[in-house]
Amino acid sequence: MDKRTVYLDYNATTPLRAEVKDAMITDLGVFANASSMHDAGRRARSRIEEARSAVAALVGAPDPQSIVFTSGGSESNNTVFATMFHAGRSGARRKIVTTAIEHPCVLNAAKWLESEGFPVIFLGVDGQGKIDMDALVREVDDTTLLVSVMAANNEIGTIQDIARISKLAHARGAFIHTDATQAAGKIPVDVEAWGVDYLTLSCHKIYGPKGVGALFIRKGVPVEPLIRGGHQEHGVRAGTYNNIGILGFGVAARLALSDLDRYVREMSTLRAKLHDGIVEAIPKVRVNGHPYDVLPNTLNVSFPGAEGESILLYLDLEGIEVSTGSACASGSLEPSHVLLATGIGPALAHGSIRFSLGRDTTGGDVAYVLEKLPPIIARLRKMSTVQA
Ligand SMILES: *Cc1c(COP(=O)(O)O)cnc(C)c1O
Repeated sequence: MDKRTVYLDYNATTPLRAEVKDAMITDLGVFANASSMHDAGRRARSRIEEARSAVAALVGAPDPQSIVFTSGGSESNNTVFATMFHAGRSGARRKIVTTAIEHPCVLNAAKWLESEGFPVIFLGVDGQGKIDMDALVREVDDTTLLVSVMAANNEIGTIQDIARISKLAHARGAFIHTDATQAAGKIPVDVEAWGVDYLTLSCHKIYGPKGVGALFIRKGVPVEPLIRGGHQEHGVRAGTYNNIGILGFGVAARLALSDLDRYVREMSTLRAKLHDGIVEAIPKVRVNGHPYDVLPNTLNVSFPGAEGESILLYLDLEGIEVSTGSACASGSLEPSHVLLATGIGPALAHGSIRFSLGRDTTGGDVAYVLEKLPPIIARLRKMSTVQA
C-alpha cells in the first residue's frame, strides 16, 4: 500500500469538522461583545445562547442555563474542585472520593485539596479498568463531600456505571461529578439518567475548536468561580465571551448528537477490524480496557517485548500517528498511571499503544496499520531479545 497519513490519536484531540469550520469562518467578523446592550451585542449573545442549547441537548440537560462555558475540560474540572474547597473548608463534610485513573487535571486538583488537608481517596480499578464498587460503597460515607468519577477513560476507553455511582453518592448526601470529556459524542450522555450534579465537557474532543469547554451545574448545587470579574455566566465564569469558539462548540455539539448512532456503528466496526487483525497477526498481545463497556473508538494494546515509544516512532515513520502508555517525562519513561492502576505492571505498561479512531478513519486506514504494525513489533521484539 502506498504511504499515507493515518491519524489515530482522536482521544488526544480531533480536527475541526467542515461544518464547524465553515460556521466559524462565516462568523469570524462578528466581534461585538456579547454582553453589550446594543443590537450587535444582542445578536452575538443570541448565538451564544443557541450554542448553550445545543450543548445542553448533547448531555440531556433540560435547562440550557445549567450549562456554563469555560476554556475547556481542565477548567471545568478545576471549577468543581475549587467549589469543593470552599464548600468543605469549614464543615465536617470534606472527604473527596475519586479514582486512580482520572485525567491529570482531576488527579492534580484532588491532590491540591489533599495538600489543603482534605481527606482524599483514589479508588482503584480492576484489570479491565472498572472502579472497585465495593471500595466505593465502603469509602463514601456521611463525611463525603464529593464523588468524582470519569464517565469514560481517555487511555483505555473503559466506561463506568455513572448512574449507579450517582445513586450511591447521593444516598450518603455527597455531590457527584463526572468528567464526560471522552464520553460525549461517543456514547449517550444524559445528566438526568445519570443523576449527576456536575458534568465536564471539552469542545476539541468532539471535532470543535480548542480552548472551549463547558460545565453542567445542576440547579441548586454550590459553585464557586475560578475566574472572578464581570457578570458573564451568572458570575460563575467571568471574562468576555469567546464568541467564535462557543459558536463552534454549539455546531459541534449539535452534530455530535445527531451523528451519535452512526458514529457508534462505524467506530465499532473499524475497532473490531483493527482488534481482530492485531490479535490474529501478532502473538502475545494484551488488549487493555473493558471487553465491551469501552468507547467504540478506543483500542489500547500492550505488546510485551517491545517499547511503546519505539513502536510509536516506527509507526510515525510510516505515517501512522498514535499514543503510547508511557510519557517521556523529564528524561525518564513514566508508565501510564491508568495502565499501572489496572495492575498490568510496568513492563506491559511500557509496551502499550493507544489507537483512537475517529470520523475520518477508513477501512483502508485500518488495513494500512495491519500491514505496517506486525513487522515493526517483530523487529522490535527481536532487537530486545538480542539485547537481553
Ligand atoms: C482532554 C481531556 C481533558 C482536558 O480537556 P481540555 O479541554 O484539553 O482542558 C479532561 N479530561 C479528559 C478525560 C480528557 O480526555
